[in-house]
Amino acid sequence: MTLLAGKRALVAGVANERSLAWGIAQAMHREGAELAFACQNEKLQGRVERLAAEVGSEIVHLCDVAEDEAIRALAEALGKHWDSLDVLVHSLAFAPREALQGGLLDGLDRSGFRSALEVSAYSLAALTAAVRPLLERNGGAVLTLSYLGAERAVPNYNVMGVAKAALEAEVRYLAADLGATGIRVNAISAGPIRTLAAAGIAGFRAMLQRCAAAAPLKRNVTPQEVGNAATFLCSDHASAITGQVLYVDAGFSILGLASPGDPVAP
Ligand code: NAD
Repeated sequence: MTLLAGKRALVAGVANERSLAWGIAQAMHREGAELAFACQNEKLQGRVERLAAEVGSEIVHLCDVAEDEAIRALAEALGKHWDSLDVLVHSLAFAPREALQGGLLDGLDRSGFRSALEVSAYSLAALTAAVRPLLERNGGAVLTLSYLGAERAVPNYNVMGVAKAALEAEVRYLAADLGATGIRVNAISAGPIRTLAAAGIAGFRAMLQRCAAAAPLKRNVTPQEVGNAATFLCSDHASAITGQVLYVDAGFSILGLASPGDPVAP
């Protein structure tokens, strides 16, 4: 299939083959996109390079989004490969592990709050600004990953929910600001999926079970399904969609109350 034929996509956030970013990269490759990757650090680099090779890419640049200089250097390096960019995928987040258990106040401190907001939310605007000159050439698409904890209080999600709320607001502001240049900005709010980042959330296994039992589709979602939706949102088929949060969660977010018989306690 060729939904993204002739398009160039920068994917930030592949850590391993379970990453949502990897599901997105595979789907975009299948749909004909040319790919480049941004990887957090040297520890992950070898694995990301091997995965990149599987989708025909030799472009892997290091970028710790907590550092302004790394973001600037990424955009500069990408500009040496490509004179335009059609898709930016922002699939990354961080919060200290101690902030992802108990209640919001239990693991709260200024530095954890700041790093969660900086890495998980600020980085979307910072990366978009850095690659904006490349994105503007053809009118590109920016996509980020969110979770229901942005809108509802989800046990143990805490400061990450606050960061995702900021991220979703940012999607709307960026979409409003950049629309006139032809750049669209959207988010996918994915249901829970077992990944490295998710493993840091206390009680995640129970969350998976409860969501699968309660969701209208009676199952969890896969990185491939997130990848398919991402591909659509970043393709010309979604040319009139911007500033939106699309739920890819087997329908869980529409529920107001668990059905009788659904598990309600971890
Ligand atoms: P993952 O661990 O595979 O990916 C997280 C990525 O964030 C990693 O590649 C990591 O290197 C990157 N990262 C963290 N700090 C960084 C920094 N300072 N600079 C650059 N990169 C950094 O986990 P994932 O679940 O695929 O997470 C991807 C996105 O999907 C995140 O935004 C996450 O919140 C979101 N999400 C995940 C789920 C889920 O259940 N797994 C559900 C909804 C949304």
